[in-house]
Amino acid sequence: MSAAVDIKGVQRIFPGQRGGDPVTALTPIDMHVKENDFVTILGPSGCGKSTLLRIVAGLDEPTQGSVAVRGRQVTGPGADRGMVFQSYTLFPWLTVAQNIEFGLREKGMPAAQRREIVAGYVGKIGLKGFEHHLPKQLSGGMQQRVAIARALANDPAILLLDEPFGALDHQTRGLMQELLLDIWEADRKTVLFVTHDIEEAIFLGSRCVVMSARPGRIKADIAIPLPHPRHYRMKAEADFLDLKVRLTEEIREEAMKVT
Ligand code: ADP
Ligand code: MG
Repeated sequence: MSAAVDIKGVQRIFPGQRGGDPVTALTPIDMHVKENDFVTILGPSGCGKSTLLRIVAGLDEPTQGSVAVRGRQVTGPGADRGMVFQSYTLFPWLTVAQNIEFGLREKGMPAAQRREIVAGYVGKIGLKGFEHHLPKQLSGGMQQRVAIARALANDPAILLLDEPFGALDHQTRGLMQELLLDIWEADRKTVLFVTHDIEEAIFLGSRCVVMSARPGRIKADIAIPLPHPRHYRMKAEADFLDLKVRLTEEIREEAMKVT
């Protein structure tokens, strides 16, 4: 079977701004993601994490190299990839339910079937009773839960998340991590999750890919063999802390280069 995501020799050079030098965001990157893997991509700010994810999403094009999803070359955005960004990107004029069903409506799915799927996700993300609220009536954490539900409702092959909890307070962030894990433990969708938070990368991932400072390349690729279901208490256990030390050392080396 082909890999869920196959990144081959992907390089991205941005033209220089106002006559400046071009910026090499990614040096050739090769990465193969298996179906049902939860891969966290960890790296310092500016190392090209968002660029890599945007290329997989089909929102940007590599200068060289290519990406295939389930054996099909990526040439633009598609329903096989669901994306969630750090900034809240719900449609502000649509309710929670309308946001979640947006892609299903586009596909022409009948209303009764849409209602059923929306009700399922509203339950999963703990927002029963908020179906008819507008995004501005929700907290940041609630909005991101809706964004995740909106992406999942389309049943994408791959879920792409770019620091989705980056703007949330620590407490809310922890709860959101557990919610995302609950969903993943139930349906094991293939996930690519970008973060610069080491603890988050370990807690969520079945595998963690560490990127170097810009120009981004893969510096380490580490299996996270912690058992599932995962509980926040694991963050204080020895296996977790060993991984945290190891990844902290990898990241410190890189962070030193950019400060
Ligand atoms: P990260 O998500 O890891 O913080 P990015 O992928 O956003 O990093 O950016 C990597 C590098 O590429 C940065 O130096 C950034 O300034 C540059 N960059 C990103 N997008 C563009 C763009 N559209 N035009 C020019 N430079 C860009
Ligand atoms: Mg980014």
